[in-house]
Amino acid sequence: MKVVNMVLTSDIRTGESVDDAQLRQFKIFNAVDFNCIRPLLNRCRKECLDSGAVLLRPELGNDSMYLLLSGRVSISLESLDSAPLLELGPGECLGEMSVFDGRKPSAYVSVIEPSEILVLDSHILWQMIDSSHSLCRNLLRFLSDRLRSGNDLMTITRCKEKEQQHAANSDALTGLNNRRWLQEYIASLDDRSLSDIMPLAVLMVDVDRFKLYNDHYGHQSGDLVLQMVARTIRQSLRPSDSVARFGGEEFIVFLPFTPVKQAEVVAERLRSAVERCQIAPDHAQSLPSVTVSLGISTVNSSETVDAAIERADQALYLAKKGGRNRYVIQLF
Ligand code: GH3
Ligand code: MG
Ligand code: MG
Repeated sequence: MKVVNMVLTSDIRTGESVDDAQLRQFKIFNAVDFNCIRPLLNRCRKECLDSGAVLLRPELGNDSMYLLLSGRVSISLESLDSAPLLELGPGECLGEMSVFDGRKPSAYVSVIEPSEILVLDSHILWQMIDSSHSLCRNLLRFLSDRLRSGNDLMTITRCKEKEQQHAANSDALTGLNNRRWLQEYIASLDDRSLSDIMPLAVLMVDVDRFKLYNDHYGHQSGDLVLQMVARTIRQSLRPSDSVARFGGEEFIVFLPFTPVKQAEVVAERLRSAVERCQIAPDHAQSLPSVTVSLGISTVNSSETVDAAIERADQALYLAKKGGRNRYVIQLF
C-alpha cells in the first residue's frame, strides 16, 4: 500500500511542512485516524526556536500544547538557572498540563538545541479531543505515565534524602550514630517522650589505655579496634536500645525501659564481650584484645538527660580510677 504523507501545516518562516510520519512519533497520535482531525491539524502552526529560547515559565500563563518535532529542551523546577530535572527530545509533549487545568506551567522549559515545535492551541486541542476517542485515550495514558514518572521521581528523591540523613547522622569509621544524632536524640526526648521510655539507663563506654594501643600497634590497628568494639556493643543490645560514638574511643548507650539492676547486667555483658572479642586484621596475625570501662546512670524524672549523661561520665571516671575493665554506677 502506498503511504501518502499529507501536508498538514506550513511553517510561516521556513515553508517546511509537518507530515503524518512526523506526527506518528507522538504517542498521543497512536492509532488516531488523522482524517477525523485533519482540519484541526491544518490549523496548527509550526515554530522554530533557537537555543536559549524559553518555551514555558511558571510566571506566565500558557494556552497551548507543544509537540517537539526536533531539537532538545530542558526542564527545571526552581528557576531557569537551576540544575535541569531532565531533558526531552523529539516525540515529547509539553505544556499540556496548563491547557488541561487552566493554571500556569509548573516548570521552566528552555531550548538547549535549535528545535521545531508544533503548536496546538487549547481550543484546537479540545476540539481534537471531542473528535477522536483514540486521541482522548492516548492523552489519558500520557497523563498517567507523567503521573507515574512523577511518583517514581518522588520515591527516588525520598530515598536519596533518607540516605543523606543517614550519612549525616552516622560515624564514618564505625557506622554507629554520631554526635549530631546524639544531639537530635536528646532534643527529641521532651518530658512526654521521656516518660514513655522510663526507666532510661545511660552507659558511657570507654576503651582502656587506647592511646598506648595506638602507639604500640599503629593507628590503623586502633581503628580496627574501634570498629570491633562498636560491632560488639551493637550486637549485644536490643533493637530498642541506641548507641552512638560519643568521641574518639568513647561510646554512649541508651537503654529504655531498663532499671539500674538490669543496666548492670547489660554493662557486664558488654564488658565481657569486648574482653573476649578477637581483633583480627585481614591477612595478618590477630592483635591483642582490649578492655572497656563503663559508667552507669539512670535518668531521674526530675533531671535532664544531659545531667544523667554527666553522672554516667563521672561513674566512668571512677571505673578508670578503680583499675579499669569494670563498671561503676552513679545514681541520682
Ligand atoms: P584511658 O584508659 O584512661 O581511657 O586511657 P586512654 O589512653 O584510652 O585515653 P586517652 O584519652 O589518653 O587516649 C585516647 C586515644 O584515642 C587518643 C587518640 O589518639 C585515640 N583516638 C581517638 N580517636 C581515634 C580514632 O578514630 N582512631 C584511632 N586509631 N585512635 C583514636
Ligand atoms: Mg580510653
Ligand atoms: Mg576517652
